[in-house]
Amino acid sequence: MAEAHPLMLYNTLTRRKEAFRPIDPANVRMYVCGPTVYDYAHIGNARPVIVFDVLFRLLRHIYGAEHVTYVRNITDVDDKINARAAEEGVSIRELTERTAKQFHEDISALGVLPPTVEPRATEHIPEMKALIEALVANGHAYVAEDHVLFHVPSMKDYGRLSNRSLEEMEAGARVEVAPYKKDPMDFVLWKPSKAGEPSWPSPCGIAAPGRPGWHIECSAMAERHLGQVFDIHGGGIDLVFPHHENEIAQSRCAHGMPVMARFWLHNGFLQVEGEKMSKSLGNFVTINELLRERPADQKWWGGVMRLAMLSTHYRQPINWSRKGLAEAEAALTRWAKQYEFAEVAAEPQLTQRIANHLCNDLNTPGAIAELHAMAKAAESGSKHEAQELIVNALFLGLPVDEYIAQHQIDDMQMALVNERIDARLEARKAKNFKEADRIRDELAAMGIALKDSKDPKTGEITTTWEVRAPSTTEASR
Ligand SMILES: [Zn+2]
Repeated sequence: MAEAHPLMLYNTLTRRKEAFRPIDPANVRMYVCGPTVYDYAHIGNARPVIVFDVLFRLLRHIYGAEHVTYVRNITDVDDKINARAAEEGVSIRELTERTAKQFHEDISALGVLPPTVEPRATEHIPEMKALIEALVANGHAYVAEDHVLFHVPSMKDYGRLSNRSLEEMEAGARVEVAPYKKDPMDFVLWKPSKAGEPSWPSPCGIAAPGRPGWHIECSAMAERHLGQVFDIHGGGIDLVFPHHENEIAQSRCAHGMPVMARFWLHNGFLQVEGEKMSKSLGNFVTINELLRERPADQKWWGGVMRLAMLSTHYRQPINWSRKGLAEAEAALTRWAKQYEFAEVAAEPQLTQRIANHLCNDLNTPGAIAELHAMAKAAESGSKHEAQELIVNALFLGLPVDEYIAQHQIDDMQMALVNERIDARLEARKAKNFKEADRIRDELAAMGIALKDSKDPKTGEITTTWEVRAPSTTEASR
């Protein structure tokens, strides 16, 4: 199957699309950098989790579910974790356990399969120390003032992944200047812990207890679970430099290998309503707060979020918006309406028409356009197309079997609609048109169309509404 339809993936390392051939088809190995567990995951964190879940599903389809090993780590030792635990007055363990549990709940609502292995950094300290000692022994790292540092100029082709010269990187990066560094680009493999911070006995004969740097964690966990050289390493594009560049430097120099992973895949940036997401801009959106908007219906709503995310190709920047969510819900509703007509067991299946798009560098927008075409044919009476639609949508992790006749308005929903309409009129009065539009879109996603009219005498705006299911079933029959 892999021969007839080769999987093409864009490799950041070579800057081109290449045919993917695993080192060992009996064990296809992928590593993706996971969360640092100190706070709720935001929707920017959700992007790689969803994107690489689709790739995981595709690899399992091509090579067999038992022949793919997917490792996604949890970083549970980090300065941000220490700071947050102190701020909240809880133990580090309590904070990391709670946050990891929340992360799992949130992403499971997004239809994400668990990875094969989910290693935690704190459970791999011996592996990290072994790597660090190997790097010191072969001259790529050195000890200075209780730190161990990787000496960047010792690696001739450092910077290959980000395709920048040392000079460019030094100019571009916010390099931490420290008197004990031989070169400003040198980065921390191990550092001493302050009192109250997590610490372990240090490597390389350092007396003071310490803890690992962030980059060495991934090198150690990848090696332990996937070996010295593996197939695919993924993450967000913001990790290319310095994190992935440093992972490569550590692993290659420790093992004397020409590569760490053969394919490096990176998903693009995420913006919110056209702006960079940041706490200071007040547009910081967590997966959890979005899910809580539909407490009774999280699997469906999570599926809407998943579809909204997959509507943009993974390498493109994505603009996360209320409009995008509303469009995704309209599409998912339309597809889900074919579930009963299709009369299939809810077995996910990937058929050739969708596989062709996914094998072309995970072209999910192409796959979604194909699902729309299937829905159209199904609405015209083709049971076969309805079946293709449902099994492929389920393959993509979309909950088309979760639809609960949302276009049928019962009394409770009627009260909700009226309440939302009042809130919108209030927003308009306060000239908060952004919020007014948001509510209109929210209702549109539920299949409620609003119509405003002005009383010619009083000038008062009144709003009427009608149920208009997002599908055009009647019209096309
Ligand atoms: Zn990593």
